[in-house]
Amino acid sequence: MTAVLDSLAALGSWINAHALLPRLPLWSYALITLADTHVTSACVTLYLHRAQTHRSISFHPLVAHLMRFWLWVRTAMPTREWVAVHRCHHANVDTPEDPHSPIVFGIWRVVLFGTSLYHTAAHDRAVIEQYGKGTPDDAIERRVYTPLSLLGPTLTLGSNVWIFGSWGIAMWLFEMAWIPFFAAGVINGLGHWWGYRNFETPDHSRNLPGQYWSLLTCGEALHNNHHHIQNSPRFAMRPGELDPGYWYFCALKALKLARARQESQVAVAIALLLLLTSASALAQPPATPGSKEPPQAVEPIDDALKYRDSVEVVGVTPIHGIGLPIVKVPSNVQVTTAADIAGRPGAQIGDVLVSGFGSVHGNEVQSNPFQPDIQFRASADAIRSRRTSRCPRTPRISSGPGTRRSAFSAKPTMCSARSFGTGDS
Ligand SMILES: [Zn+2]
Ligand SMILES: [Zn+2]
Repeated sequence: MTAVLDSLAALGSWINAHALLPRLPLWSYALITLADTHVTSACVTLYLHRAQTHRSISFHPLVAHLMRFWLWVRTAMPTREWVAVHRCHHANVDTPEDPHSPIVFGIWRVVLFGTSLYHTAAHDRAVIEQYGKGTPDDAIERRVYTPLSLLGPTLTLGSNVWIFGSWGIAMWLFEMAWIPFFAAGVINGLGHWWGYRNFETPDHSRNLPGQYWSLLTCGEALHNNHHHIQNSPRFAMRPGELDPGYWYFCALKALKLARARQESQVAVAIALLLLLTSASALAQPPATPGSKEPPQAVEPIDDALKYRDSVEVVGVTPIHGIGLPIVKVPSNVQVTTAADIAGRPGAQIGDVLVSGFGSVHGNEVQSNPFQPDIQFRASADAIRSRRTSRCPRTPRISSGPGTRRSAFSAKPTMCSARSFGTGDS
């Protein structure tokens, strides 16, 4: 035993003799380690979560790759796996299909063994196939980052030892445990179990109380806020809430190295044909001059029926394929319903789409205001639509004097769709 300790002491001395900074004050190593883990947290929330998973922001390709590289050497987590597991979480939140819900697995299992739950989902081919779309798939990803994922932390160990000597080993252990503890344990566990709720989301998500949680996780602790608006670049939504991740995004944006996804870039899916079907149901004959028919009042629409005739615009990029229930799409979904349109007397269907939906554009190049061209940019597999034929009532619109009676008399004559690239930025 003594011989082993002597050997380790000799090895430590040899390492320190060849290291660059082996004798800094102890607090220096602690501070450097905290800064290191903070960068890792920032990369997780900015690159993996906000940019890659929810597509709410994007970065200059160089910045994006720097974060990708940092995550490789600090966490060994391939982008596609992280993104897929997290989208799966949003799609099945707090159900048995959720990879790491404390409501299903129990809080202690998620907090203490969250990494194991994560890896189970990350190695589920079906999960990766369904939810991992749109993540980097270039040569370095295929040849290095994914197949050699453990090489990254090994390089970190080597560089730590080379720079800080034997203290570098302790720093490495702390750095390697950071994300498994705070992401897989604290956020995935406590974020659905303990804390306060700003919004009554249909899940158990919570904001962890105390600003230190947000500082440590770069804003990820505001988990209820995030579940409420999943594709918001900013997680802080109440006075006093801190979101360092958003601060860093704003700093990068000021340097023109990052930007929020603009409406014009949102991949749009619109059920125009079904709109026209709805339109025909809503259209009424024009008023006959002198007619004594009393104006018809707007009929109330049952909430249960409200969304049966609807237009749904799903952003941002193709992520799930066809068939995912609308409430499970971890992205923004723009919806207008027959009731909404009926509540805007005088609005043509083209007006509603152009003024209210992102990535929808209209023009009247054919000089016919009743037959405008409607164009939208859409991702081919993001198109979805819904209309049931069971709606027993047809919404009506007011037909008072001066009111255009047919809200849907305009028929879009041309639609165009283009697919977007889904790469890094
Ligand atoms: Zn969650
Ligand atoms: Zn999320």
